[in-house]
Amino acid sequence: MNTTSEKVQCLIVGAGLSGLGCARALQREGIDAHIYESSDDIGGRVRTDNVDGFILDRGFQVLFTAYPILQQELDMKALDLQPFDSGALVLWRGEAYPVTDPFRAPKTFLNALKTGVFSMQDKFALLRLRRLIMGMDITDIFLIPDQNIHDFLVDNGFTGKFMNNFAQPFYGGIFLSRHLDTSARMFAFTFKMLLEGQAAVPAHGMMEIPRQIARDIAPGTIHLGCEVESLIKEGKAVKGVRFTDGREVFADQVVLTVPSGSAAKLTGLQLPLDRRSTITAYIEVPVDFNHERAIMLFAEPNKYAGANSLVNSAVMMSRISHDYASDGRHLLCVSIIGEPKISDEQILEVCSREIGNHFPQSKPKEWKIVKIYRIPWAQFTQPAGIFGRLPKADSGISGLVMGGEILCHSSIQGALEAGQLSAREVLIRCGKLPRETRRPRRTENMQKPA
Ligand SMILES: Cc1cc2nc3c(=O)[nH]c(=O)nc-3n(C[C@H](O)[C@H](O)[C@H](O)COP(=O)(O)OP(=O)(O)OC[C@H]3O[C@@H](n4cnc5c(N)ncnc54)[C@H](O)[C@@H]3O)c2cc1C
Repeated sequence: MNTTSEKVQCLIVGAGLSGLGCARALQREGIDAHIYESSDDIGGRVRTDNVDGFILDRGFQVLFTAYPILQQELDMKALDLQPFDSGALVLWRGEAYPVTDPFRAPKTFLNALKTGVFSMQDKFALLRLRRLIMGMDITDIFLIPDQNIHDFLVDNGFTGKFMNNFAQPFYGGIFLSRHLDTSARMFAFTFKMLLEGQAAVPAHGMMEIPRQIARDIAPGTIHLGCEVESLIKEGKAVKGVRFTDGREVFADQVVLTVPSGSAAKLTGLQLPLDRRSTITAYIEVPVDFNHERAIMLFAEPNKYAGANSLVNSAVMMSRISHDYASDGRHLLCVSIIGEPKISDEQILEVCSREIGNHFPQSKPKEWKIVKIYRIPWAQFTQPAGIFGRLPKADSGISGLVMGGEILCHSSIQGALEAGQLSAREVLIRCGKLPRETRRPRRTENMQKPA
């Protein structure tokens, strides 16, 4: 066992977006900040693999270009973003219906109405909701009375048709639950992001985002393959960390940017522990059967594909970015919510049956699995009322600063914002910034004023 010990000014645990953003902000202020990451590369939940000429993100995810923090944290042009079409292709009772923002593509929206995917009441509810949310800034959105998405949609006049055919699969894919049981604030936030911008992926995969941030971090200050086993404490104060190989590193400030389950284990603090899981299946298909750059949503899957249906949504990634599949091949990405215990072969069978039902021309018998990712900790669960229970960057413990998405919400915006908040807390503790009472910013954990 290696028992040497060393000291740094600030030690950041985790090289996800939050840890990387925090390190970069601190190094810019002259702080000797080091990141220690347990896995073999940076990115955390935003990683990409190259497999047999395919680009595979570890779990289907997208960047919402309207996230306000992106202008401060990223060079958006350099990411070479490839946008999705706004809206979605709803697959309902054997037919495919494009559904979109009424203001961006009014004709398509009106056609969707004619088909019965939505009702007339939903049309007016959508226009009212659009006006309401466009009139709010993000701070206001995170102060709306919190309730779950289902109740929020009912209160705003939507019918079961809108819920079943659009909200369940679309927001099910975003929040990894079809029950519409996530906070309405998260719904309103993502709704605004979709109205104001686009969903997109970098041409060469989502990991281009953390890679871009890491390029600004001093060489030799990101340490991979270092799993923190415990915090070194003197009384209650945190003095450093101990790794699984027995090595110790001391620091004036330790910033924890790990998922909340790991943070709770390391600190003993009470943090939200419920999680959402997903399976992402990448499949090579012989035909590009979705001639849109839109996500395909499976409405009423149980009614149409049978009680054990699993597919929530799918997207032809090679159509969004040609670089995702080399040599003109076609890459389909299928999202399944939760963590059903089924084999890769069963997943392929289910995907080809459920999607093939809608697209018989897709030659489902010729589909081949490229890779399947099972992601047990994709997001922390964000029910109504969660925002009052999230930790602050200032843990109240000497030497310990909290970081990671858990400070804000589970998203790229939330993780990058958390990186800024924890860096700010370190700078305050180092005497480089005054601790002033301030209004909470943007999406930071806010509570409704009494
Ligand atoms: C499948 C999926 C789909 C998503 N879809 C979207 C989307 O479409 N849009 C969106 O905005 N967001 C999406 N998200 C959420 C977004 O990716 C996350 O909110 C964000 O990446 C979290 O960043 P983070 O830095 O807080 O945490 P993480 O990325 O989890 O980083 C934490 C790091 O800490 C490391 N670590 C953990 N324990 C230890 C330890 N003991 N010692 C050392 N290192 C440790 C981990 O290896 C990891 O690298 C999605 C996430 C997933 C998984």
